[in-house]
Amino acid sequence: MIDRIVTAGNEPEDPIEIELEVTLRPRDFASYIGQERLKQNLQLAIDAAKKRSDPLDHILLYGPPGLGKTTMASVIAHEMGAQVRITSGPAIERAGDLASLLTNLQDGDILFIDEIHRLNRTVEEVLYSAMEDFKLDIMIGKGPSARSLRLDLPKFTIIGATTRAGALAGPLRDRFGHIHRLEFYTPEEIQRIIIRAAGILNVKIDAPAAASLATRARLTPRIANRLLKRVRDYADVNGDGIIDSHISSQALGLLEIDELGLDPADRLLLAAIIDNYDGGPVGVETLAALTAEERSTIEDFIEPYLMQIGLLERTPRGRKVTRKTYKHLGKTPKSQEQASLI
Ligand code: ADP
Repeated sequence: MIDRIVTAGNEPEDPIEIELEVTLRPRDFASYIGQERLKQNLQLAIDAAKKRSDPLDHILLYGPPGLGKTTMASVIAHEMGAQVRITSGPAIERAGDLASLLTNLQDGDILFIDEIHRLNRTVEEVLYSAMEDFKLDIMIGKGPSARSLRLDLPKFTIIGATTRAGALAGPLRDRFGHIHRLEFYTPEEIQRIIIRAAGILNVKIDAPAAASLATRARLTPRIANRLLKRVRDYADVNGDGIIDSHISSQALGLLEIDELGLDPADRLLLAAIIDNYDGGPVGVETLAALTAEERSTIEDFIEPYLMQIGLLERTPRGRKVTRKTYKHLGKTPKSQEQASLI
């Protein structure tokens, strides 16, 4: 996958970026902006669990990357006064890895599993009984002398996160007491997130510049923070460090991010549908080949936002662009007939 500034996935590897992510991460419900309905539901679940002195039911959070799933897991832990351990589906390779994670937990601890749809089958099966009865079934030894052992586990809570709830095996999904979808943020919420981050990072940004950044951040907090940092760099080098509309539009122009937050890869995908398939429908595999992107990159990172803002539709026969897409890209349908179909 190419390094796109507007790709919400791609956890940062640069230590400075990681530090910034940690600094900017809200710690409690009060500083977690937006997702009001989710917060209300979780607050209720937390209050009820605390009142009964029970652990929280397992929680599945799903939705596009960068919307705050990991952040929400640590907020929940904070509100429960619990410890959180963070891991991911691909990191738990063997049943033994899961066993060691689970046996090291304490009562009330939260285990956050990112990309939970990528757990392998054997690990997943061990997780079933762990989640249901707080028991761990493991096999000791191999061959005829192998025997199974049942261990008691502390009463923990799993918070699973996934970009694809549909890719989760049914039995695993059924073991979550709460299943919540994270929604894209409104431009106003993104603007508040930018202003909050600017305050923490000591960046001076005026209101019009914050509003213009907010419209280009793909309604996603991680991208909002990332754009803010890039524009700050530009302001430091080319101005006096203060971000106003002029500086921000110059910086975003340099990054080739347009006023809807689309970058060259988005525009390439949309133009490919128009130029090669008269606006669609066209299958995702064909699009992957045409744009040299992985299918999963298209499905997880590119499409959700394009669909959210009405530039792309998923139909049973494939992907289609809309009238708005033609207008945004300054293209016209080839024929009258085509124009009537979109
Ligand atoms: P996900 O796990 O869904 O990919 P993260 O929880 O890692 O997303 O969020 C990415 C970044 O966006 C976090 O570091 C945090 O700074 C910021 N962020 C996420 N949600 C919010 C929010 N509701 N309010 C403020 N900042 C947020």
